Amino acid sequence: MRIGAHVDPTDPLAEATARTADAVQFFLSDPQGWKAPQPRADADRLRAAEVDVYVHAPYIVNVATGNNRIRIPSRKLLLAHAEAATAIGAKGLVVHGGHVNAGADPASGIENWRKALAYAADSGGFGLPVLIENTAGGENACARRLDALARLWDVIGEYEVGFCLDTCHAHAGGEELLGLVDRVKAITGRIDLVHANNSKDAFDSGRDRHDNLRGGTIEPDLLVAVVRAADAPVIVETPGGAEGQCGDIAFLRGHLAPETSAV
Ligand SMILES: [Zn+2]
Repeated sequence: MRIGAHVDPTDPLAEATARTADAVQFFLSDPQGWKAPQPRADADRLRAAEVDVYVHAPYIVNVATGNNRIRIPSRKLLLAHAEAATAIGAKGLVVHGGHVNAGADPASGIENWRKALAYAADSGGFGLPVLIENTAGGENACARRLDALARLWDVIGEYEVGFCLDTCHAHAGGEELLGLVDRVKAITGRIDLVHANNSKDAFDSGRDRHDNLRGGTIEPDLLVAVVRAADAPVIVETPGGAEGQCGDIAFLRGHLAPETSAV
């Protein structure tokens, strides 16, 4: 199982080495801004690296919203990120499920997702797997609770999309982690990436504050159980820099190792 971390984008391979990570995830542009990603000088190194690369789309991307001043640039920015992520050999582009505004019909968010994926397909496709991530907050989110995720997947499942399961978001979003992998796979058929994070906040708080795997309100063994069941690459998006994340990676490796039978 490949285990890595979300890192600073300046020199992701050095960050991977500092964490003994098999994989890295990073942003290609300001996560709160609309600027398109720029070509990277280290593209050849990233493509050739042993380390698996994942890209996280900016947080502001919301292809579901009814606000067309956000929805239209979101579509374009998502596609621009897919192209830039493909250029560095990324294995996937993670994007949050998004939400519609209070009072708006959640079905419109799903239809907007379909249009965004149709737009991408008409533009030549993404070029790499786009992984929709569950989110912690919002009453009108497309991928906070599994009932909403099921309605979304009914419509977009025919497109080339994957799923990224974030354990902090699931817990804070109000989904029990016990048995979660099976419940998600019954909807999506797949989990392509796990974001293994503990949560500083309570179950169903709707808040998105990650903690180190042995901190927070989630029983650490439950995180290990989710990671084991998902059997997908793992990224920790936890605090504490290289030291904190190195500890989280070591914790997962230690607990995922095949148990030695006492014969
Ligand atoms: Zn995440």
